[in-house]
Amino acid sequence: MSPFSLENRRALVTGANTGIGQAIAVSLAAQGAHVTCAGRRECTETLEMIADAGGQGEALLLDFADPMAAQDSFTDVGYSILVNNAGIIRREDSLDFTEADWDAVMDVNLKALFFTTQAFARAALEQGNTPSAVVNIASLLSFQGGIRVPSYTASKHGVAGLTKILANEWAAKGINVNAIAPGYIATNNTEALRADPERSEAILARIPAGRWGDPSDIGGTAAFLCSPAARYIHGAVLNVDGGWLAR
Ligand code: NAP
Repeated sequence: MSPFSLENRRALVTGANTGIGQAIAVSLAAQGAHVTCAGRRECTETLEMIADAGGQGEALLLDFADPMAAQDSFTDVGYSILVNNAGIIRREDSLDFTEADWDAVMDVNLKALFFTTQAFARAALEQGNTPSAVVNIASLLSFQGGIRVPSYTASKHGVAGLTKILANEWAAKGINVNAIAPGYIATNNTEALRADPERSEAILARIPAGRWGDPSDIGGTAAFLCSPAARYIHGAVLNVDGGWLAR
């Protein structure tokens, strides 16, 4: 079997209805995984794309407005892959930023990610589903400050930190924990930036690859990190940013 194959694996991807999560779900399925596409809305389009690619998947409604929403999602299913992709962003000057915007972002991007991963790992270890892989979606802003996104930047620095501590604790247990730090990818998340010609031009000028990222640029990286080929990679926060941080 190819070291990149995900055959006979069960995977759960959060926020799989659109954007990066959708691309990851399709990439995992294309490598042979059975993919549960979790979202706060139906993942109908993603399931159609998976079927078109000859893969298998199913939908699960999960809304991280309650960060503990996934506590029972891993019982008796046999998952060995979790991709924590769901995330939100709120933009406002730090002087005007509200507690509500702070809490909303932290709940989805950080608290839900930690407790979902905890539930996944408990089930994987109880059920003997190792080797297992967790991939967290961090950000370029796990390394940089950004502007006007204080809770997002704090949450994504947190995602990078959690990736490292969980890798330290679980590497010896057969669970690989890694993260992908996307640069600027053309999704709903960056719609406002792309709609602003000045901001869009400034961003593009800083990307050595000369283009915005496509969600599929992240999908393949996630499939690799979940595969046996990545079995000795633990605690990495991998930049997939068209070279932004290398510049
Ligand atoms: P997106 O299209 O806005 O996707 C975000 C996903 O998270 C959607 O499926 C969204 O569902 C889901 N989500 C939001 N709140 C949720 C909740 N309460 N419960 C469950 N799911 C929820 O943007 P994206 O760019 O693909 O974002 C995916 C991940 O990549 C995020 O973690 C984001 O921070 C990260 N990221 C993106 C970029 C970029 O340039 N695009 C760069 C770095 C990191 P709905 O469709 O229902 O809102």
